[in-house]
This record gives sequence, structure tokens and C-alpha cells, in this order.
Amino acid sequence: MLVDRLSGEFHSAQAEIDEGPIYPEVAAKEIREHLARYDFSSAMPLEEAAADVEQMLRRWQVQVTHPRYLGLFNPSVRLASVVADSLTAIYNPQLAAWRTAPAAIEIERHTLAWLAAKFGMPADTAASFTSGGAEANLSAIIAALTHDFPEYGEKGLHSLPAPPVFYVSAEAHHSLSKIAHMTGLGREAVRAVPAGKDLKMDVSALAAAVDEDRRSGLAPFLVVGTAGSTAAGAIDPLPELAEFCRRERLWFHVDAAWGGAAIVSPTLRHHLAGIEHADSITCDAHKWFSVAMGCGMFFCRHPQTVARAFRAETSYMPRTAGEDTPDPYTHSVQWSRRFAGLKLFLTLAELGETGQAAAIDHQTRMGDRLRNRLAASGWRIVNHTPLPVVCFTREDIDLPAFLGGLRARQICWMSEARLAGASVIRACITSFKTTEQEVDQIAEQITHLAAEQKRSPVTC
Ligand SMILES: *Cc1c(COP(=O)(O)O)cnc(C)c1O
Repeated sequence: MLVDRLSGEFHSAQAEIDEGPIYPEVAAKEIREHLARYDFSSAMPLEEAAADVEQMLRRWQVQVTHPRYLGLFNPSVRLASVVADSLTAIYNPQLAAWRTAPAAIEIERHTLAWLAAKFGMPADTAASFTSGGAEANLSAIIAALTHDFPEYGEKGLHSLPAPPVFYVSAEAHHSLSKIAHMTGLGREAVRAVPAGKDLKMDVSALAAAVDEDRRSGLAPFLVVGTAGSTAAGAIDPLPELAEFCRRERLWFHVDAAWGGAAIVSPTLRHHLAGIEHADSITCDAHKWFSVAMGCGMFFCRHPQTVARAFRAETSYMPRTAGEDTPDPYTHSVQWSRRFAGLKLFLTLAELGETGQAAAIDHQTRMGDRLRNRLAASGWRIVNHTPLPVVCFTREDIDLPAFLGGLRARQICWMSEARLAGASVIRACITSFKTTEQEVDQIAEQITHLAAEQKRSPVTC
């Protein structure tokens, strides 16, 4: 059985990762010199090359699946992902057209429909797996442009009477700026609406910006609400944004790349209320669903718009199987398509909805615990979110020296974030493996570290 064989490999690798260092100590030169032996002039046994690569991955990367990696939404993974990616490579299904890969496409469709229903989207929602949140956000912008500007697809943006602009919170993900560049909207088309003290988009500032832009001859078409901001886990006021978009006839996109997973948790899902009104949603399985990269998702309640936006006609692709079996290559950004959705399907099948919710609730509790321990040890918590991202600081801390100390002692991986113009420390419980003991130990050790550094400042 594939599962048995992979299970041994997976668990022994994981055990070593969990015991080992989190931060690598390496310069590019060392890796490049090591790679010089691979000039591909002669064949070598696969075992040898694969073993070498595994050693390189052990030594030369940040171990994002380590339970003390409190990082950037990169999760620990489960055996289900490993099995899924192996099956995908073995059978290499081509998901561009339904006729070529009916089993794989129906598995993805089934999985996406389940999640779309959790989000409160209608049964005919168009959905697809994407490489990640960036591609899902790109899909949303293209769909919204296609929906609002009939000339956009054929004649291009320059044929429009007024330049389209869209609105994001100042805390929104920076992929949206790249997307504005890539689509030809231009980066200035992204209007960053100030966030309030709570780091949520200020809806009255949004209203004022839309009004002012319309008056100066621009064409507002979309608002992005972020549900779980990358730096601080802030959730924009989704019900108010939905209502505003409905009134102003603007497309409402919710970027729930990380936070969207909270929808399966009965204790957290009410924080996402309002998402059911979204025209489109981004959600990444490779973040809080703890699925291996890359596994993003795009949902859109306007299937006709999606079909128009991504239409393609060829003589060489298999003919459409039927109305009810759309071909992914005519409904999404990608053409050749990997079976990315299997990772989420197998994860959900193995854990069940309750198991998945339990993992999410566990991480949330660990986040609460970390927040409480830090506050009790004199740290100032600077963000407010029900999700497990904790941003914090204290007086007189030298941030580079502090982060250097974390690294030198391999205490845990944390990052720096800028919130409202100030640099703070950011910790996110991204692993379902992180335990209470580890959280307590981390809080204690970093408090010691800060105290030590205050007594005898070091420069790194
Ligand atoms: C991570 C993230 C993205 C980008 O997703 P990728 O999967 O990295 O492409 C977009 N938006 C938010 C809010 C994110 O956290």
C-alpha cells in the first residue's frame, strides 16, 4: 500500500525535522559550489541524487514544518498531502479538459462545492484550484473587469471611457499591486483605504475615496475585503463592505487566503460573517488547511462571467463533454493543470470536518495562550484578532538584535512586521503540531532573551 510505504518515510523525516534546527546557516556560495558536481554530463543513480537533495533540504532551509516555526502561514503538512502529491505524479492526470481526467476533475469539483457551500456561496458557484492566493486574486480582478466592462476582453483597458480603480485596505496583501501591474490597470489603480486603529478597513474612508474618485472621472469597480490580514490577522468589516458594494454596485472580493479556513470551525466562523455576500473569494488550502504547497482556491458566484473571462477555442483540445462538465482550461487562468486539489480532498477525507475544525481550534488556542503569556510577561500586544497571529513589542527592544538572538539560539522562528508605521514582532501559530509546552517555553525564552539583551546590548 502506498500509504504504508510513504508513512514510514514521512514520519521519520518529520521526527528529525521536529528535533533539529529551524534556521539554516548557509550562504548561496556554499550551495552553488555543492551543485557544481551536477554538470549532467553523465548519468547517476536516482537514489544518490535524491538522497543528496534530501540532505540539502534538511540543512539548507527554514524548517517551516517545525512546531516552533511561528511564521508566514506556511503550514506543517500531513501524510495526506504526501500521498496526494505522489499519486498525482504517478498518474500525472491532465486536468485541462474534462474528457482527459474525469475522475480528478470531479474530485476537485466535489471538494470545491463542499467548501463553497460552507462559505454560503450558491450551488452554481464557479470554483477552481489555483497555484495560490496570488493567482486566485488575479482571477478575481479579471472576472470583475470582464463583468463590469464589456469592452475589456476584446478591446482592452485603453478602450474604456474612464480608468478603472479598485479599493483595498492599507493592510491588504501586496499581490494586488502586482496584479494591477500585470493586468494593465497600473499600480496606481489600487486605492489603499486607511485602516483604523484596529487595522480594519475604515468604511467611511472607503466611501469618501470612491466618491472622490468618481468625481474626478475614474471608474471604481471593486473592493477587496481582507479576512485575516497577512501581517496582523485583521478581518475587515465584511458585512458593512458587502452592503456598501451592493449599494454602490461594486464587485465585492474577499481575500481570505489564510483566514478562510476558519469557516469550518463552529467557534470561529461567525468572524467571517458577510463573506456569503462576496462576488468572489480567495482561500488557500496550503495555509491554514495544512495542505502542502501549492493549493489555492478561487470561488466566484458568477459562472457566466468566469466562462467569458477565460474562454478559449482550439481545434486541438478534446471537445467539451457537456454543459455540466466545463473544461477547466476555459474557466481559469491555467491551461495544463496539475491535480492540486487532491491534497485537500484527502486531508478532508482523513480528518473529517470535525477533525479539520479541531486542528484549527487547537492553533487558535495556542495563539491565545501565546498572547496571554506574552502580555503577562510585560510584552505589549499591538494587534487584536480572534485568529492566531500575535504582534507584539516592548520598550527599548532592539528588533534586529532580538531576531538575531532567536536565530542564534534556535528558540523559534518569528518575523518582523510593520503595523501603522512601527516595527513589531509577529508570531503566527501555523503548525497544528505546536503544543502548550512549546508555547510556554517560547514565551519564557524570548522574555529572557529580551531581558538579557537589555542588560548587555549586543550588535548583530
Ligand atoms: C498569502 C496571501 C496571499 C498570497 O497567496 P499565495 O498563496 O502566497 O499566492 C494573498 N492574500 C493574503 C491575505 C495572503 O495571506
